[in-house]
Amino acid sequence: MTTKEYYIDVILPIPVVQLFTYKVNEEEAKFLKQGFRVAVPFGKSKITTALVFNVHQNAPTVYQAKEIYQILDESPVVSEKQIAHWQWIASYYMCALGEVMKAAMPSAFLISSETIIFKTSQQQETIEQQVSDESYLILEALEHHSELSVGELAKITQKKHSFKYLKQLLDANLVSTREELYEQYKPKRVRYVKLSDNYSEEAELKRLLDVLTKAKKQHEVMLHYFMLKNKEPHVKVKDLKDATGASSNIIKVLIDKGFFEEYFLTSDRLQYEGTNHELKDLSESQEFAFSSIKQSFTIKDITLLYGVTSSGKTEIYVKLIQEYLNKGTQVLYLLPEIALTTQLITRLQHYFGEAVAVFHSKYSSNERVEVWKKVLEQSNNARVVIGARSSVLLPFKNLGLIIVDEEHETSYKQFDPAPRYHARDAAIVLGKLHDAKVLLGSATPSLESFYNTSNQKYGLVTLKERYGNVLMPDIQLVDIKDKHKRKKMTGHFSDTLIKAIEEALLENEQVILFQNRRGFSPILECNTCGNATQCPNCDVSLTYHQYKNQLRCHYCGYQMAMQLSCLSCGSNELDTKGFGTEQIELEVSKLFPDAKASRMDHDTTKGKYGYEKIIHAFESHDIDILIGTQMVTKGLDFRNVSLVGVLNADNMLNFPDFRSHERCFQLLQQVAGRSGRTKKRGKVLIQTYNPYHNILQQVSTNAYEEMYHEQIDQRHIYKYPPINRIIKITFKGKDYNLVNESSLWFFKALHSAFGEHVLGPEFPPVARIRNQYLKHILLKIPSQQSIKKTKDYIGKVQKSFAAISAYRSVRTIINVDSY
Ligand code: ADP
Ligand code: ZN
Ligand code: ZN
Repeated sequence: MTTKEYYIDVILPIPVVQLFTYKVNEEEAKFLKQGFRVAVPFGKSKITTALVFNVHQNAPTVYQAKEIYQILDESPVVSEKQIAHWQWIASYYMCALGEVMKAAMPSAFLISSETIIFKTSQQQETIEQQVSDESYLILEALEHHSELSVGELAKITQKKHSFKYLKQLLDANLVSTREELYEQYKPKRVRYVKLSDNYSEEAELKRLLDVLTKAKKQHEVMLHYFMLKNKEPHVKVKDLKDATGASSNIIKVLIDKGFFEEYFLTSDRLQYEGTNHELKDLSESQEFAFSSIKQSFTIKDITLLYGVTSSGKTEIYVKLIQEYLNKGTQVLYLLPEIALTTQLITRLQHYFGEAVAVFHSKYSSNERVEVWKKVLEQSNNARVVIGARSSVLLPFKNLGLIIVDEEHETSYKQFDPAPRYHARDAAIVLGKLHDAKVLLGSATPSLESFYNTSNQKYGLVTLKERYGNVLMPDIQLVDIKDKHKRKKMTGHFSDTLIKAIEEALLENEQVILFQNRRGFSPILECNTCGNATQCPNCDVSLTYHQYKNQLRCHYCGYQMAMQLSCLSCGSNELDTKGFGTEQIELEVSKLFPDAKASRMDHDTTKGKYGYEKIIHAFESHDIDILIGTQMVTKGLDFRNVSLVGVLNADNMLNFPDFRSHERCFQLLQQVAGRSGRTKKRGKVLIQTYNPYHNILQQVSTNAYEEMYHEQIDQRHIYKYPPINRIIKITFKGKDYNLVNESSLWFFKALHSAFGEHVLGPEFPPVARIRNQYLKHILLKIPSQQSIKKTKDYIGKVQKSFAAISAYRSVRTIINVDSY
C-alpha cells in the first residue's frame, strides 16, 4: 500500500499557457482551495507566488512535482467567478491565464525572491506590538539597507521560509514592493487622530481629562478634539493644530501617552462632506429614460443609453446605482481613463459617501490591495467601485450592476502588454457570470454597440435632449483654405475664431481650444533639402518641444538639443512644421494678452495632481482659455464654457485606419459637447480645409444616425467590425529581413486556410520603434465562421512558427478585436 499523494495545479504570473503542478501534504490538500496563494520554488533558485487553481491526486507524468514552500493565505484572495472570468479573457484574447493574473493582482500580492522591498514611512513607535520577531528583524535590516530583495530575507530571519513574515509586513503597510517607486501618483495621505479605545467609557473619559488638567495645552487640544468630533466623523491633526495652536510635539505626546491613536486616510476617499446628499430629482425625459432602462433590463441584460452630451446621464446612473445598493449588490462603474474620475468621484461620494471605492493602476500597490480586500469581503466601503479598465479583474462576489461610461472610448482596449482585452467587452462577460445588468452609456456610441442594438442583442434607450432644455451647441465649420486665400488668418486662428473668443471673453465666459496632438506635432524640416530630423531608433520625425528647446521622439523618448543647421545638408534654413498645443498657447498669449490661458496635455498633467489642478483651476475660473488635446474631450462637465474652438479637424480625418471617420465624429461631437452646458446655447467653431467632408457635415448637424448608417455600409463593403471580427498579428524583431521572411511564412500558413480573408503582411505607418521592425497581418473573420476554430488554427500556426529556430528572434503578438 502506498500512501496517498496530493497535488495542486497553480497559475504562475508568467506568459506560459499551461498550469504547473506542485506537491502538498494531506493536511495542506484539505486546507487549500482555488484562490489561495502559495509560495513555490520556480526555476533554479527562485521562489515565487502562485495561485491555486485546483487540488487533486494525479501525479504529473512528464516531470517530478516539487513541494510548495508555504501557504500564504488563510482564505482565498481570488474568487471563483473571478477566475472563471480570467479564463474567458485568456481564451478569448489568446494569452496565458498567468498574464491575466499578473494584470489583475497588485504587485504586493505577487512577491517573489527577486522582488525588492523597502520600508514605508510609518511611525516607528507603533510597530513593535504589531509584528512577529522575524518581521521586526526585517524592518531593522531595512533601516540599514533601505532596500532588500526578498531572496535575502532568509539570512536575516534565519528561517528558510520568510514569505510569511514579509506578508505580515505588507499587510500592515510597513513595507512596500519596489514597483511603487516608479509610480508618479500617490493619493495624498491625511493624518487623523481618534481617541484610544481605552477611553470609550464615560468614566474613563473623565479620568483622562482629570489627568490632563495639569497639562494645560494637552487639555485644550483634547477639548477641541471633542468639539470637532461632534461635527465630523474624522478629526484631522491639522485642524486640531490650527484651532489650538498646538505644536506637533503636543500631539505626539498625546499619542505616546496612549490617549490618541493616529491613522491615515487617502484624501480622495474622504473629500465628501460626511453626510450623504439626496439624489437630484430627474427631469421628465430623464425619468422616462430611467424607467425605460429598467424596462429594458427585464428583457435584455445589456442596454445602451444613447444620450446626447449634457443630457444628464450621470444622474440617471446615480439613480440606478441607488436601486442596486438597496438590493444589496455590488456595483462597478467603469471609466475609460482615470483622469476622468476627478469630477466623478466627487459627484458619487456626494451621494454614496464611504460606499465608494476607487481602483486604478496609478494607485500604489498597497492601496490597490486595500480595495481588493474590501471588494472580496463585500465590505460596505466598496459597494460602488469606480475604476478604469483593470477594475473588471477585481474579486467581485455579488455584482448586480455594471455601468460602462463613455463606452465608445478606445482607451478601454488594452494595447500592451497582454492581456489585450477590451474592458467594455470583458465587462459584458463579467456581467453574465454574475447575472448582473450592464448599462453602456455614450453620447456617441461605438458602431459595435449601436449595431448590437439594431440586431436586438442589446436594448436601446435614447435621450435626445440636454438637461434643463439647453439647446445643443451651434456648430459651424470654418473654411480655412478660403481664409488663407483672403488673408484672414493670424497664425492658426481665423478671424471668425478670434472674434468669437473676444466675444466670449467680454461676456466673462470660458473657452476651450482643441488641438489634436496625434501626428500633428511640430517637426523640424530643412527648407533647402527637405530633410526632417529623424529619430535614430524609430521611423518617425522628432518632435520639436519649444519649452525645452529640444527635439524628442514620442515613441522611444530619444531627445537631442534643437538643431541650428540641417544634419543632412548643413543649411541653416530650418523650419518647424505642424503645430501642437504649445504653439497654440504661444499664439493665444499674443492674440489675447489679458486672458489667462492654460494648457492641458500630456506634458502639463504629468505630475502629482497635475490633472486635478488644471480642472480645478478651470472650474473656479482661474483660467479663461483652456488649450488641450484629446484630454479635454472626455466627459468633463464645466459650467461656464460658451465656446469651443477646434483649430484643425483635418488630420483626424486622414488617419490611416478603418475607424478614423468614426473616431473623428466622436471626438468632435464630444469636444463640442463641452460647450454651453447650462442656460445659454454654446457655440463651436471647427476650422478645416474640407468643410464639405461628410463626417464634418454630420458633426455640425449632430447626425449620429446618418454617420452610423454610412459607416456601417463601409464596414460591410470592406468586411470590418462590427460586421466581421478581426485579429491582428504583429511581428517584431531587430532583423529587417527576418521580420519580412517570417511574417510571410505565417501569412502563407494562414492563407492556405482562410484565403482572401488574410491581409498583409504589411508595414504599419511607423514601421520601426526602438530599433525593432514591425509588420502586421490582419485576419478578417466572417460572422458565419467559427471564432473558436479560427483561433485554434492560429494557435497551431503560432506553435509551428515558434519551433522554427531561424525565427526565434521574431516575436509574434496577437491582438483580438484589434483597435
Ligand atoms: P452627461 O453625462 O449626459 O454629459 P451630466 O450627467 O454631466 O451629463 O449632466 C450635465 C449637467 O446637468 C451636470 O452638471 C448635472 O449636475 C446637471 N444635471 C443633470 N441632471 C440633473 C437633474 N436631474 N437635476 C439637476 N441637475 C442635473
Ligand atoms: Zn524613437
Ligand atoms: Zn538640409
